[in-house]
Amino acid sequence: MSDRVLVVNCGSSSLKYRLVDVAAGEALAWGLAERVGQPSGRLTHHRPGEPPDVVERALPDHGVALGAALEALDRSGPRLADAGLVAVAHRVVHGGDRFSAPVRIDDEVLGAIRELAALAPLHNPVNAVGIDVARRAFPGLPHVAVFDTAFHATLPPAAHTYAVPPQWARDHGVRRYGFHGTSHAFVSRAAAELLGRPLEEVNSVVLHLGNGASATAVAGGRSVDTSMGLTPLEGLVMGTRSGDVDPAVVAHLHRVAGLGPEEVDRALNSSSGMLALAGTNDLREVHRRIDDGDQAAALALDVFCHRVRKYVGAYLAVLGRTDAVVFTGGIGENDPVVRARSLGGLEALGIRLDAERNAARSPGARRVSADDSPVAVLVVPTDEELEMARQTVDLLAR
Ligand code: ADP
Repeated sequence: MSDRVLVVNCGSSSLKYRLVDVAAGEALAWGLAERVGQPSGRLTHHRPGEPPDVVERALPDHGVALGAALEALDRSGPRLADAGLVAVAHRVVHGGDRFSAPVRIDDEVLGAIRELAALAPLHNPVNAVGIDVARRAFPGLPHVAVFDTAFHATLPPAAHTYAVPPQWARDHGVRRYGFHGTSHAFVSRAAAELLGRPLEEVNSVVLHLGNGASATAVAGGRSVDTSMGLTPLEGLVMGTRSGDVDPAVVAHLHRVAGLGPEEVDRALNSSSGMLALAGTNDLREVHRRIDDGDQAAALALDVFCHRVRKYVGAYLAVLGRTDAVVFTGGIGENDPVVRARSLGGLEALGIRLDAERNAARSPGARRVSADDSPVAVLVVPTDEELEMARQTVDLLAR
């Protein structure tokens, strides 16, 4: 039986899991526990080709949520006891300066993940809770932490240094880290495979456009610049996050509106982005509203695509020579309008989309540029869980 890894991703009120067969590159089962910590919760468990197993019940904490997931696996299969499980992989958002690769978790590593909560207060503590409950559920298995920041450990100083007082960097870790690294790693490798060229020779601009969104310049498989910074707030316009704003906004709103820094931070993270401009963070709904003549939704889409275009231009310059622009994430994979609006009119920069290929709906990795486009434009569905499982098996084989 080949290596199978249980991938766990804990959010503040959710727990996602996926049982991955690494050699086959496929999921044997996956599920989502929602509204963890709230009075009424739900667990939805899936197996390929079967109706979902849905349980509505309170999930007061992540330990109970994981227990409910294990019960669903026992009930609907595959039973983990017979599944050939070799490890549990945990998504951890922030690895700070400390973690530049996946790491086997012991008490010391778990302590370090908790200490990094200063940099990721919304994510690392809950990631640590997930690790804690899973280690108790599977005490005999290796547990591995895979960090969202790790792929960007290769950023050169020119790209990761903010021009701020150096003691902020030294004493408080104020620098750019970058996120979505697991996705950018998976997608840049898959893009090289699609082009039929060795990863080391391929330069790409990867656009992960989902509810969170980020752009990365990848040179020969190494991240050399990325749009997210100290936190996942910087860069592109996202579902509920502003992306780039003048940092003076914080002091300005304090002076003119009496808003505190925490309040502004919350608003920039949770009630900005497409939600603020269009009234919804679902791009499908944005398109519906535009079709109904909604001017605010039209402006929101303009702002979103303009920001993507700006980062593409910047990263073409950072890379010098670019082989591919690669779209991924819920929007990148499914929204031909965003792709066309972001890259239209860039023929002089070597980017020529093929309108028909771009408009065609297809689930797989594919080329959407014209055959004579010097820069290939690709759509590559991301698979962060498979990437995490692969990295985990690689680590354990070392
Ligand atoms: P997350 O960052 O939460 O993983 P996803 O990568 O799943 O998010 O992306 C969610 C986004 O993808 C939402 O804005 C949703 O509207 C968008 N999306 C999903 N399907 C489509 C589609 N067919 N057309 C346009 N946008 C889509």
